[in-house]
Amino acid sequence: MVESAAERFARITGVERPAKPQVLMERAVVLGASMAGLMAARVLSDHADEVLIIERDTTGDSVEPRPGVPQGSQVHALLPAGHAQLDRWFPGFSEEALAAGAVNPPPEQSRTYINGELRPGPPPGSIGAALISTRPFLEAMVRRRTLEIGNIRLVNGRADGIDFTDDRVTAARYQPDGTAGPESVVTVPADLVVDATGRSSRLSDWLGSAGWPQPEMRRMPIKLNYASALFRRDPKISDIGVSIAQNQPGSGRPLRQGGILAVEGDRWLVLVAGYADDRPTRDIDDFRKRCRSDYPTEFAQIAEHGELLGEVNTYHQADSRRRDYHELERIPAGLFVAGDAVASFNPIYGQGMTSATLHASCLSAYLSSDPDLSQPARSYFSDVNVVVDVAWQLSTLADLALPHVDGPYPRGYKLTKWFSGLIFAATAKDDDLNVQFNRVTTMLDHPTALARPQFILRALRFALLPSAT
Ligand SMILES: Cc1cc2nc3c(=O)[nH]c(=O)nc-3n(C[C@H](O)[C@H](O)[C@H](O)COP(=O)(O)OP(=O)(O)OC[C@H]3O[C@@H](n4cnc5c(N)ncnc54)[C@H](O)[C@@H]3O)c2cc1C
Repeated sequence: MVESAAERFARITGVERPAKPQVLMERAVVLGASMAGLMAARVLSDHADEVLIIERDTTGDSVEPRPGVPQGSQVHALLPAGHAQLDRWFPGFSEEALAAGAVNPPPEQSRTYINGELRPGPPPGSIGAALISTRPFLEAMVRRRTLEIGNIRLVNGRADGIDFTDDRVTAARYQPDGTAGPESVVTVPADLVVDATGRSSRLSDWLGSAGWPQPEMRRMPIKLNYASALFRRDPKISDIGVSIAQNQPGSGRPLRQGGILAVEGDRWLVLVAGYADDRPTRDIDDFRKRCRSDYPTEFAQIAEHGELLGEVNTYHQADSRRRDYHELERIPAGLFVAGDAVASFNPIYGQGMTSATLHASCLSAYLSSDPDLSQPARSYFSDVNVVVDVAWQLSTLADLALPHVDGPYPRGYKLTKWFSGLIFAATAKDDDLNVQFNRVTTMLDHPTALARPQFILRALRFALLPSAT
């Protein structure tokens, strides 16, 4: 029987580890040692004699932002589905992260505001515990756990290309750190290569220059502007653990988004964000002014009275983008792509790291299916596409409502928009719907879970009888 997208998504978000993973190859090479590359390496360590990761940045034990992940100083929230995958692949990860300073704030310290109004949170336990930290802290923990595995090795250098012989990948090439020129490029024979080099991946160019078809890149221009700053956490100023504030188009409010996360080291990481020409600057006075005028009171309390640690950091993301590898008529055997190199979304919805962990789950499913490695990994790319579709549908549906975004509109957009508005309005009144809505937006469940008849009927009832309880 053909698996539906929802069934596939349920399988991919599952948390069982393969019982008896089979070693299928001598060497796998992963390009990029950020969230997607590290998770892919963890999965590959079960199936290859040796896994080599090639990473441009020298990382060591650093928990500081680094050049290869320039968004690292910005607020990063790990969604529950990603959290579950970290515990799946690294048993005890949560306990270790919490012991090292990551935060799991109690419900009374967690708030979400939509258009300035406090929304009821999901009942405790319905979407799992939070694991809140800075991005470099989380990545450093994943890196340490990955590199502790005996058959994984990391080398520093710039990945420079992939060799293809006949119809398959045979090697990866890189320029080792501290060397220059073609004579020092190293060629590493590989049975399998994963490209996890992020949004600016050059894989498509490498495929093109070797005569392979290139994937279509779809973009949605979101023009998002972030500014984040760290403050010393102080209970005399606020007890807040997490505060998310979003203003929606049509609410009559400036389209500003923001967040406060209590992170490791007794700090708060505070984000203010705007779209298009609304650009927060690195000026702390501008940051404070925004916190005062457009956000719930805890933003101003912290920005005005908290001790600023370091500087305000800004980041601009021009678009959401996806590369549709699953649609290629021809793709080399042994080639895999994961994380932002496949798709990257509006970061305000916090889907990127979780998607990277789910791509690793797709890789595990593929390698556990007794695959023929001499053939292209079609089922991998089609599983990854299920994950990308989920994140893309959720984020672009919301982004298409932004005044400066004018497409591309998917088929059935108006109906989907109407339906999602109906469901969203009902979540404030119906606990079951609220839980399901939160499970979908945190990527624990497929969006079709919201289209069950009982939810549609309840949402319609609230729309037609606003006084219904
Ligand atoms: C402002 C902002 C906020 C975000 N907030 C969130 C959030 O709240 N929650 C969330 O889940 N996600 C968030 N994201 C998305 C998240 O940062 C990415 O989805 C995630 O980092 C993707 O991981 P990746 O491993 O695919 O790629 P990246 O993190 O981009 O890493 C790519 C890696 O490849 C290396 N590399 C690149 N080229 C080469 C080369 N030629 N050779 C060797 N190495 C190379 C880089 O050094 C880097 O280590 C946010 C993104 C932005 C921009």
